[in-house]
Amino acid sequence: MQTALLLARQARLQRLTFAVFMFALSCVVAVSVFMDYRRVRDTENQKLVIQANIVSANIEMHMTSIDRVLEEILAIRYYTDLDHQRDHMQSLVNAMPIIRAISMLDVNGRQVIGTRDSNNNGNFSGRPYFLNVKADPQPLQLYISTPYVSVSGDLTIALSKAIHDRSGRFAGVLAAAVEPRYIKGLMESTLYAADMWAALRHLDSQAAIRVGGGGASEQRYEPLAMMGDNIGLVPLPASLHSDKAKIMALGGPDSRQLVAASTVAGYAAMSSLPLQVITGRDFHATMADWRRFAYLQGGLLALFIVITTAGLLFTQRRRRRYALRRDEYVRRIKKDQQLLQAQEQDYRIIVERTTTCIIRLDTNGKLSYANPAFCALFGISATDVRGRSFSSLMTQEDIETAEQSVSEALQQPSEQHLRTQCLTPTGTPHMEWTLCSVAGPQSAVRSVIGIGHDISAHISLSKKLRNLADHDGLTGVLNQRSFMEAATAQIALAHRNKQPLSLIAMDLDHFKQVNDTYGHQAGDRALQICAQKMKESSREHDLPARVGGEEFAILLPGTPLEDALLAAQRLRSTIENAAINLEDGTHFHLTASLGVATLEADETLESLMKRADQALYSAKQNGRNRVEAAPALISRAAS
Ligand code: GH3
Ligand code: MG
Ligand code: MG
Repeated sequence: MQTALLLARQARLQRLTFAVFMFALSCVVAVSVFMDYRRVRDTENQKLVIQANIVSANIEMHMTSIDRVLEEILAIRYYTDLDHQRDHMQSLVNAMPIIRAISMLDVNGRQVIGTRDSNNNGNFSGRPYFLNVKADPQPLQLYISTPYVSVSGDLTIALSKAIHDRSGRFAGVLAAAVEPRYIKGLMESTLYAADMWAALRHLDSQAAIRVGGGGASEQRYEPLAMMGDNIGLVPLPASLHSDKAKIMALGGPDSRQLVAASTVAGYAAMSSLPLQVITGRDFHATMADWRRFAYLQGGLLALFIVITTAGLLFTQRRRRRYALRRDEYVRRIKKDQQLLQAQEQDYRIIVERTTTCIIRLDTNGKLSYANPAFCALFGISATDVRGRSFSSLMTQEDIETAEQSVSEALQQPSEQHLRTQCLTPTGTPHMEWTLCSVAGPQSAVRSVIGIGHDISAHISLSKKLRNLADHDGLTGVLNQRSFMEAATAQIALAHRNKQPLSLIAMDLDHFKQVNDTYGHQAGDRALQICAQKMKESSREHDLPARVGGEEFAILLPGTPLEDALLAAQRLRSTIENAAINLEDGTHFHLTASLGVATLEADETLESLMKRADQALYSAKQNGRNRVEAAPALISRAAS
């Protein structure tokens, strides 16, 4: 939960930083776009100013020429006739394409002579070039008319001069009408863009000669607001400075124009009515490239912002998810650890409370841990246990077994089982050990856990059970089954070692009578005493056994017939002399008959017993309380 809060705060901070950065970037882009806007606009301004200046300089030059031409015509007026003057006018008009026609008007505005003869006597008193001069006829002054519609029907201007007679009175006007096509050609040569236009206007008039700007180039003598739908020069203020362009809304808010002006300077002073050249471009069209670039930059910026914002949000989301998953993982690990700890505690209790010995051996086979049961049994403290070898716990005979088992458990992951006798302060208990290898990475054994049980009690119990199973309950000598097993093994050994071996078969005499006379209990007692005598007279390796009710046998390994006969005689005598005490203080004696047989080559136990029984039978037959030897197999076969 805390992680989620922390992450949310971090994410907020990141988003804020990002927003600030994006805002700064947007500002930089906006400033750059604005600077570009100004650069493009200023460049365009300059270009328009230059073009206007070019046209105005040209017109100024032509005006100078026209001024001189008119002066010259006036000069020859006194010494040439009208025809000559007219021819002179015509030749000048021919030489100067900017002049369309020259006309000399009298004091009433009627054409006296002119390059257009058809206009002779025509009344032009209403023309601006006449009216202006007549209003204030100044010698040497060049008058520039406001645009007017000529006889040809197109818009033009005229330059005129006052004519004075010899006495200095106003006598008429000499006017040169400008060829508007020439002016238009001149202005057209400066247009460098489809949307650019140029106009020549008179500062006292609303009419102008204009070209370009996508149509509306026709000259009409009417307010220019009506001349072109897209470009009207009406709102141009008189104070439009030369050398400085302006953005103006001309003919409506949608047709903003970038406009530059250049006054035809040289004659502005001389003329009461100066001319002005105006160049302009549709502002929208002018800035089209800049606008495309600005849109591109804006678009790229927006795209960049969108992509980076999406990236940021995506990264933040992934980070949040990852953090939450990591938290979950950590929580689970913690839970697992707690579970593990609880389990470990359980196991610790089991290990520490059990009576089973539990040890851990390191990779050198040395003890690194022992549980309290082990420490108690071996009388070693938990700290002293460390570093002791496993085999050092064993009795001399089991050291090798212990070392071998440990080495095998360490060699590869396995489970070794062994029984050893261990050295403890209280004795040498029998222990059953299980050594389990604990495998580490790549199946390498990293330690061995040893689990040991004290099986001394178990061993002694099974010994007891075995003893019970092997021995006769009444007499304590071997019973028939275990006698047969042991005898079979001894016979095999005797054959292998070619050692002599004898068998004594014994049966008590008239035992039935003993039972009948003294009772069954007395009989049992008699059987026990006989067995006791048998044991006492036997050597260490002899095997005395009860093989029937009152039938006994003794196997004598390594004993030849003579020795066996002697032993049988001794036994017979011992039994004969043994007194069987009764409860009433009296006693009785009994005797036994014995048959002795000695093992012959390749003879079986069965055959040996049979022969001993036959000898016993003979002893019975021959009067009882005696020993008979069984005849040899070969001699019997021979007989
Ligand atoms: P013989 O001299 O021919 O051997 O005569 P016998 O009376 O001993 O005859 P036999 O060997 O046939 O008799 C065996 C008797 O031994 C029969 C039985 O009453 C007695 N007997 C067998 N087992 C036991 C026993 O465990 N306890 C007692 N008290 N008597 C037993
Ligand atoms: Mg018998
Ligand atoms: Mg008997």
